[in-house]
Amino acid sequence: MIDTHMHADSRSSEDFEKMYLAGIDTAITCSYYPYKIDNETILLNHLNRILEYDTKRAREYGLDLKVALGIHPTNSIENPEIIFENLYKWIEGKQIVAIGEIGLEDLTELEISIFKRQLDIADETNSKVIIHTPRKNKKEVLNEIIEIIPQHLDEKQAVIDHINPNVVDEAIKTDCMLGLTVQPQKMEKEEAIAILDEYGFDRFLLNSDISNKPSDPLSVPKTIRQLERLKFKKEDIEKISHKNAQNFFEI
Ligand SMILES: [Zn+2]
Repeated sequence: MIDTHMHADSRSSEDFEKMYLAGIDTAITCSYYPYKIDNETILLNHLNRILEYDTKRAREYGLDLKVALGIHPTNSIENPEIIFENLYKWIEGKQIVAIGEIGLEDLTELEISIFKRQLDIADETNSKVIIHTPRKNKKEVLNEIIEIIPQHLDEKQAVIDHINPNVVDEAIKTDCMLGLTVQPQKMEKEEAIAILDEYGFDRFLLNSDISNKPSDPLSVPKTIRQLERLKFKKEDIEKISHKNAQNFFEI
């Protein structure tokens, strides 16, 4: 199984071990710093920590941690250039599998310009992007994201994440992959399964988004097991368990 979106830097080694023992071979950890960021040096340190330190921590417990780096909208900084320079470097060195998570939260001008620039970098370097949608004003922000993406990047290179039953109808009309986050306070596994049942398995990726917020490190295996119990087709379960993620991220 692949957990396609998590935040390893805010989780314990015990979580990595549990995930691995429950059948998760690979996870993708994304950037997000939960506290204020006063300058670009602090953000760069956060990103390097994920790349150099958390990957090692996870590997000690068997979990193959792939990395997505970028500027999370809530971490928008005034001078992002050094981060962009490093993004080119990490992409060229094949150190990251995507730019992420990026996106919009409060729709400020700074957020929007940083988001667009990161989409341009993805376009230029032929990279994938993981796009965050917020808990509040999800529909409004998602509509803005859906309008911006095709002006900068082929939709096929993007996953729009944290899609829920309220917004899936809008999101499915794009050519983007869609992320289903099964996490307390976000979405129950039953809701994710209802979406897969209605819209099919081809367009979706599954994740736990474990972070500093209430989280379940086993939400991906629990959802997969539930699909098996409900006798969904093996071929469909394999898509959401790992095949879609392998194809999309080329991992
Ligand atoms: Zn996240």
